[in-house]
Amino acid sequence: MKEQKICNSPLLDTRARPVRDLRISITDRCNFRCVYCMPRTAFGADHQFLARDDLLSFEEITRLTKLFADRGVLKVRLTGGEPLLRRDVERLIELLANIPSVEVALTTNGSLLAKRAKSLRDAGLSRITVSLDALDDVVFRRMNDADFPVARVLEGIDAAASVGLTPIKINTVVKRGTNENEMLPLARHFRGSGHILRFIEYMDVGSSNQWNMKEVIPSSEVVRRISAEFPLEPVDPNYTGEVAERWRYRDGAGEIGVISSVTQAFCATCSRARLSTEGKIYTCLFANQGHDLRALLRTGRSDEELAAALDNLWRQRTDRYSEIRNAELSAAKKIEMSYIGG
Ligand code: SAM
Ligand code: SF4
Ligand code: SF4
Repeated sequence: MKEQKICNSPLLDTRARPVRDLRISITDRCNFRCVYCMPRTAFGADHQFLARDDLLSFEEITRLTKLFADRGVLKVRLTGGEPLLRRDVERLIELLANIPSVEVALTTNGSLLAKRAKSLRDAGLSRITVSLDALDDVVFRRMNDADFPVARVLEGIDAAASVGLTPIKINTVVKRGTNENEMLPLARHFRGSGHILRFIEYMDVGSSNQWNMKEVIPSSEVVRRISAEFPLEPVDPNYTGEVAERWRYRDGAGEIGVISSVTQAFCATCSRARLSTEGKIYTCLFANQGHDLRALLRTGRSDEELAAALDNLWRQRTDRYSEIRNAELSAAKKIEMSYIGG
């Protein structure tokens, strides 16, 4: 664990929220086409992904992350798209892990993890989250829509555990009628493993997934259904503003988490900023506009000028989409998760 510093006079937004987490999307590409994230209808063969020159370089990302760390960011999470598709991501992890006070985490679909777990750990990665929506191979292949077998993701999880990237968080998006019958098999599988399974409510992020409230399984139902087989009890949060609500098995077999982004908004404590693949800062997952930092980076601005831009945009932040979610907002054009970084 790195020593974590809290700034003397933290940067706060209009609702007195500090900036603590920075999610960095390092590629908008993915080898999966998860039905809730990059459906083939919108991300087919003719989809235009960003050109290489559009992507922030590792040095540009590191420069911005240092400035964010000076403003209170304690954790950065590399995401995407599929972050392990970005060539030489280990070099970026090394650069970021060298920033004092910053922990580096990564979220992956696990498809390439078996071979990379050790090099990621050696580069300085502190934590890993693996997305896994089903244990049943047929359901899993249908959900990733890339015919990718679940066994390879499970191998990746084992490899990450064997190099000590523990506890591993396993993220499951639950979609009614698609993988709701996978909740209990997943719970049975990961109970007692030390890994923390987290069920995420299906969100209306982006505009391509044809989101429908009827397909959302509220976390309260998830807890009820799991508790019916394995009684659960609530656990206090690890820290203020923790997004996942914690529950533990009464028989001591570990804990699970539920993330109720739709039914119980956590905007009041939201301290996340997102840096898109091409260098735009988004202060909310549901924003439809970002602040272009790449333009500043590539026109020779000083660190002071960049810092002033960051301060300015965070101080003006008013976001609370999930608190006020309504049909009109939900139907508006929003940025896709694979671009902004989940
Ligand atoms: N490709 C990596 C992965 O799947 O872990 C990282 C990027 S992915 C966009 C990050 C997380 O966002 C994943 O855990 C995924 O399940 C979640 N996600 C994507 N679309 C979502 C949606 N509509 N609702 C809830 N979670 C979603
Ligand atoms: Fe790819 Fe992750 Fe989105 Fe699935 S959730 S399509 S793995 S970016
Ligand atoms: Fe944060 Fe926006 Fe999500 Fe609210 S809706 S928790 S402000 S990202």
